[in-house]
Amino acid sequence: MRQEEADICIAGAGMAGLCAAVAALEAGATVLVIEKGSRSGGSMWLSHGLIWTFTDKAQLRHEVPDGNAALQDIVVDRLTGSHDWLQKRGIDLEPEMEFQSFGRGRMANPAQMAPALVKRVAELGGRILFQTGLQTLLSTNGDVTGIVAFDEHGAVEITAGSVILATGGFQGNAELVSRHITPHADRIYLRANPWSTGDAFLSATEIGAAVTPHMDKFYGHALPAPPARFNQFEFLNVTQRYGPMAVALNLNGKRFVDESAGTGEEALNLAIATQPQATAIYIVDATIANTPGPLGILAKVAIERARDSGAPIIEAPTLALLAEGLRAWGVPPDVALHSLQEYNSAVQSDAFGGLLPPRSKNAWPIKIAPFTAMVMRAGITFTCGGLQTDLDMRVLRRAATTSNLSLVRADMSELRLTAMPNLYAAGCDVGGISTGGYIGGLATALVTGRIAGESAASNARRR
Ligand SMILES: Cc1cc2nc3c(=O)[nH]c(=O)nc-3n(C[C@H](O)[C@H](O)[C@H](O)COP(=O)(O)OP(=O)(O)OC[C@H]3O[C@@H](n4cnc5c(N)ncnc54)[C@H](O)[C@@H]3O)c2cc1C
Repeated sequence: MRQEEADICIAGAGMAGLCAAVAALEAGATVLVIEKGSRSGGSMWLSHGLIWTFTDKAQLRHEVPDGNAALQDIVVDRLTGSHDWLQKRGIDLEPEMEFQSFGRGRMANPAQMAPALVKRVAELGGRILFQTGLQTLLSTNGDVTGIVAFDEHGAVEITAGSVILATGGFQGNAELVSRHITPHADRIYLRANPWSTGDAFLSATEIGAAVTPHMDKFYGHALPAPPARFNQFEFLNVTQRYGPMAVALNLNGKRFVDESAGTGEEALNLAIATQPQATAIYIVDATIANTPGPLGILAKVAIERARDSGAPIIEAPTLALLAEGLRAWGVPPDVALHSLQEYNSAVQSDAFGGLLPPRSKNAWPIKIAPFTAMVMRAGITFTCGGLQTDLDMRVLRRAATTSNLSLVRADMSELRLTAMPNLYAAGCDVGGISTGGYIGGLATALVTGRIAGESAASNARRR
C-alpha cells in the first residue's frame, strides 16, 4: 500500500476542510488534505455564497429549538471575526447585510473563495490529493492514528497525528438516507455535491464515535420534478423559495404540513421528503405570483425559470379547472379542489384557527386568477444529524459518553463527554447544529473548520 504522512490529515476540501487546513497550517502543522471529488469547494462552490447566521441568540433558539445550543452560540459569536479572517486571506466579501428579518452575513463569490482558499493552503505548504476518498479510520488502542483512502490506483495509507473529518454529511448515501430520513430516497433530489456519501460518518461510527439525535433532519429546498432538467450549477436558479407562501398538496390531493412553518422553505421541503414519491404540488394565485419571496425574487420569476428547465407546470383560469388539470399527475381532482376550498374558506374566516394542518403565516387565499401549479420534489442539501463533538470539535466516543437524549433529571457525577484522541469533525459532518431549522451552512463550516484546524494543530504540537 502507498504510504503518506502528515501532522494532520483532513478529509474533504470543501468549506470546512479548506478553512481547517488554513487554520492548521498557520498554526505550524503539516497538512495533507484528501478530496474525493475532482475539484475543491464541495457544495460551497454550488452555493449562493451568503455566509450568514442569526443576529440574536434568543431568536435562533426560538427558530432552531432542537440544536446543540453551545455549538450554535459559537457560530454566532465567531462569525464576525471569521468574516475578517477570510477577508485577510484573500477572500472577497461584500459588506455585512441583513438576511431576512433575523440574520446577518456577508456575501462571497464561491468561484473566487474556493480557489483563494486552495491557493492559501498551497502557499503555506499544504497538499491536496484530489479524487482520493476517505474509507477507513485507523486506530491503535482507541487512539486515531491515520486513515486509509482510495484513489483510482487503489489504497493509500496516511499516518497522521490528528484527523479532521470534513466530508460534508451523508446526503449522497441512498442507504443512509432511506434508513434515517425517508423511504423515498430513490425520488428525492441530491441538491448538493455528488461526493458526500457519509464516509466520515460511517468510518467514525465504525470505531465507536457518538452520534447526535435528529438523524432524520436535513436542510435543502424542493426542486421542480421531472421532466425538468438542470445541472448542479442551476440549483439556485430553479429553487422555488416562495413555497411558504403557496399551498402545497401531496399526490393524494391533500395538504400535509404548515407550508409557512420555519424561517424559509426548508421545513416544507423536509415534510415533502416523506410524502408519496417525495413529491408535492405548489399552487399559487396571481397575487402570490406577484409577491417577492425570501430573497426578493417574485414567485412568478422563479416559476418562469423553472418552466425554462422543463418543469411540469399548469395554469388555469379557475380552481376547478386547475384541480382537473392535476389529474394528469395522478392527483384526484375532487380531493384537491376540496383541499383548496377548505383552505380558502378557513383563511378567510374565523375558522382559520381550526385549519388542519394549520397555517401560521402567509394566510392568503388562492383566489385571484390565473392559478398556477408546479410539481416539486424534495431536495437534500445537507444532513443535520451526524457526529457528536465537543466545543473543540473533538469527536466524542460513544462508549465513554452518556446519552444525549433529554434527561429529566441527572446527577452531574454521572455525566461524561469523552473525546476520541486525535479525531475532529467540522461542517456538515458535525451533527446537531442546524437541527429542526437552519442557522447557515457556510458560517457553520467556516467557524467549526477553523476551530477543528486550530485544535488539531495544538494536539499535534503536544504529541
Ligand atoms: C445550491 C446551494 C446553495 C447554498 N447556498 C448557501 C448559502 O448561500 N449560504 C449558506 O450558508 N450555505 C449555503 N449552502 C450550504 C453550504 O454550501 C454548505 O452548508 C457548506 O458547503 C458545508 O460545508 P462542508 O465543508 O461541510 O461541506 P462541503 O462544502 O460540501 O465540502 C465537503 C467536501 O468533502 C468531500 N468529500 C466527501 N466525501 C469524502 C471522502 N470520503 N473523502 C474525501 N473527501 C470527501 C466532498 O467532495 C466535498 O468537497 C448552499 C448549498 C447549495 C448546494
